Amino acid sequence: MSLKKAPSNKCDRCGKEDYYFEICTYCKKKVCKYCIKSSATATKTERRVICKDCWTNKRTQKKFQKPAVAPVRI
Ligand SMILES: [Zn+2]
Ligand SMILES: [Zn+2]
Repeated sequence: MSLKKAPSNKCDRCGKEDYYFEICTYCKKKVCKYCIKSSATATKTERRVICKDCWTNKRTQKKFQKPAVAPVRI
């Protein structure tokens, strides 16, 4: 018996089934909340998510920590 499940409810990183996913900004993987290392809202429209894999990469980690836009001076 083949019971086919929608492939859309599995984490790309750990394979865990979940209902909540985010796309890693850097590797574009769909990751569950356990695989998300951190997330930040850079601007009102831009949200950055970094997975645990990308976090181990120093260069990607730096990119994540660096603000996307320069702080606005008023
Ligand atoms: Zn996962
Ligand atoms: Zn990633």
